[in-house]
Amino acid sequence: MKLIIICANCHNKVALNSQAATRPALAGTCGSNFNISCPHCSFQNLVYTDQVFAEPTLNNLSIPAGAIVGGIIGLLGGPLGLLIGLTAGGATGTAIDRNKENQAVARFNHS
Ligand SMILES: [Zn+2]
Repeated sequence: MKLIIICANCHNKVALNSQAATRPALAGTCGSNFNISCPHCSFQNLVYTDQVFAEPTLNNLSIPAGAIVGGIIGLLGGPLGLLIGLTAGGATGTAIDRNKENQAVARFNHS
């Protein structure tokens, strides 16, 4: 997940360099408001933490971790098992990672 704001000047998304899990946590590290220079138009945005929102960063890049687990299971079950393991591992790994990601995003956006 990444934390972003919308630039007040050019309306592009600007990513925050923060790993805060909730808005109170973000306020704890950055204060309730702070300045962010937009990388698109150089506008200085005065941002309040309630203007910050989270969005998922995971996409198909999360497949390899699941595929590795599936591949290990597959090795125990022979060539056919490997194929099934790769497919199942890739699918479940992605679904679980996406689920975690979406929960983290929802937690931040409701904080
Ligand atoms: Zn801008």
